Amino acid sequence: MTSESTVTPDSTVTPNSAATPDSTPDSATAPDEPVAPDPATSSTDDTSDEQPASSQGFADLIAANQSFAARFTLGGFDGIAHRGVAVVTCMDSRIDPLRMLGLSPGDAKIFRNPGGRVTANALEALVLGVHLLNVQRILIVPHTKCAMASNSEAELRERVGASAGQDASWQGFHVVTDQREALQADVRAVRSHPLIPDTVAVGGFLYDVDTGLLDQLV
Ligand SMILES: [Zn+2]
Repeated sequence: MTSESTVTPDSTVTPNSAATPDSTPDSATAPDEPVAPDPATSSTDDTSDEQPASSQGFADLIAANQSFAARFTLGGFDGIAHRGVAVVTCMDSRIDPLRMLGLSPGDAKIFRNPGGRVTANALEALVLGVHLLNVQRILIVPHTKCAMASNSEAELRERVGASAGQDASWQGFHVVTDQREALQADVRAVRSHPLIPDTVAVGGFLYDVDTGLLDQLV
């Protein structure tokens, strides 16, 4: 394709297509409107100087990746957890699951979702980890100031709906009303799983995003 030659920031076409995976929900309103210029900016039709951040594409990240690959030393690595660790934690950008435990790439299997919950998918990952990937210790790690524990599902739907400019009441959000209770239930779900033997250590921890400390609660 011509994607190489159209990555330039000047292009008014490629940045949009490059950003599609990120902006799919927002772009749902776009097809209704043809190419009619926005009345507010109709005096000039050149908007290439004022592209929103989501339209800048991935160029900065790809450039960073090339630097990363130039110093890459993990090639030929197997995929097992060398320190025998699996972590289930939140998608929150304040959490660095490896570094907070003094681990490095290759040491642990990491499973993340909103809230750091032990879902069916998380259990699937843990079963694979235990039996095929050397996992012997499992940490379940929700965190302080988690959006999933400080909003109701109705509030999240309202906020997402406002951002999307359309109804979001059909979208489910697995909010947590009592973090400690949810953590106990999640640890129990792992410990009682028929394919996860008692020899595997399972702990429930709360990560403090302001201090970096883990507090074992279960
Ligand atoms: Zn969170």
